[in-house]
Amino acid sequence: MNFLAAAGARRLCAMRAVFPYLWRGKYFSSGNEPAENNSVTPMLRHLIYKIKSTGPITVAEYMKEVLTNPAKGYYMNRDMLGEEGDFITSPEISQMFGELLGIWFISEWIAAGKNSAFQLVELGPGKGTLLGDILRVFSQLGSLLKSCDISLHLVEVSQKLSEIQALTLTEEKVPLERNAESPVYMKGVTKSGIPVSWYRDLQDVPKEYSFYLAHEFFDVLPVHKFQKTPHGWREVLVDIDPQVSDKLRFVLAPCATPAEAFIQNDETRDHVEVCPEAGVVIQELSERISLTGGAALIADYGHDGTKTDTFRGFCGHRLHDVLTAPGTADLTADVDFSYLRRMSQGKVASLGPIEQQTFLRNMGIDVRLKILLDKTEEPSLRQQLLQGYNMLMNPMKMGERFNFLALVPHQRLHGSNHQTNARQSKPSPSPVAGFGELAWR
Ligand code: SAH
Repeated sequence: MNFLAAAGARRLCAMRAVFPYLWRGKYFSSGNEPAENNSVTPMLRHLIYKIKSTGPITVAEYMKEVLTNPAKGYYMNRDMLGEEGDFITSPEISQMFGELLGIWFISEWIAAGKNSAFQLVELGPGKGTLLGDILRVFSQLGSLLKSCDISLHLVEVSQKLSEIQALTLTEEKVPLERNAESPVYMKGVTKSGIPVSWYRDLQDVPKEYSFYLAHEFFDVLPVHKFQKTPHGWREVLVDIDPQVSDKLRFVLAPCATPAEAFIQNDETRDHVEVCPEAGVVIQELSERISLTGGAALIADYGHDGTKTDTFRGFCGHRLHDVLTAPGTADLTADVDFSYLRRMSQGKVASLGPIEQQTFLRNMGIDVRLKILLDKTEEPSLRQQLLQGYNMLMNPMKMGERFNFLALVPHQRLHGSNHQTNARQSKPSPSPVAGFGELAWR
């Protein structure tokens, strides 16, 4: 069966934004970008008050407050994705991205023995565009999935974005159930009849057989920054500038701080960023996958434990000084994939990280592009498809900087879940799609 032809062949989605919008993996911050917005934001006032009362704060605390403080956090009350926002992501650029990810999940579901039910869990679903594209593939391949009981589980801290996700995904005629006090703060039904639930924390998602997806999620989790000094590692902190009372600046902690425990003993870099929260999420995913099966697909910009200073800000598709006008700009740091792999602690097998261009090519993006181009003669749509492909695949754009990592149960690679060929004594597991050749060829 040609999944790529079947998956949404009749649907070409409406125009999506392409140029000249900025994707977050693009630049590295020197920390010296000109301050463009000097206004004293409510978040700046809150941070100054906090620092005055308890002393300088870690970069991780700064990032957490600025991004997800329930009242004033950057992510909580705004739509930052797309041309009107601050940055753009792959699913917002091209429908092909989500379609190929949808095929990846189906491929894994088949390879693991077509469980009678699965949960699809997305961490940080943005506008819900990626899930929308994945669900379209599930509908197109409905005959395959018809006896499978699917449910959607969205882990999202932002009230505003969860409302946008509901608009993108759910059936208007079925009212959403809301309960701000409950760990499941919203429930609905998708346009194709799949139950969908919203949570603020992965811990609250039922521990059932699941496929997990995290696209540009780990890069917003708070990082601690450290600098090597003659006295050992010292943590970078955020303090009030003594020269200008409503301005923040970086300082070094005078002595060792607890997060130093996250630095490897044999570390050779002189600046490092560590993200304990990412470790907690990976441990939880690994634990779940090792107990119940399923898989996780993680895609982000990042490195394999080699980069030093990647903490940066974005506002209105431009690089933004991380300490200026906090709460008005996105903050992010490259994901350390070597740390994520380490934190899976051998409970699951990990594949990758591999570059986005390799993953999408292995998933058949060239065939998919051709199918979509053959379906339309509209010049602007053809142009948009080609530009989107270029943006996702070009090594100078998102092709090299973005990476894919998969976590699968050990038995998935050793075959004990997979059907045994009657004539063979050993099972023959299929390769994991995207990380090798296309599995169904
Ligand atoms: N995956 C989407 C959006 C990426 S932006 C895309 O690729 O287009 C980051 C997303 O993570 C947003 O939805 C943001 O609200 C959410 N987010 C940020 N911090 C979070 C946290 N601690 N827990 C859950 N979601 C979080």
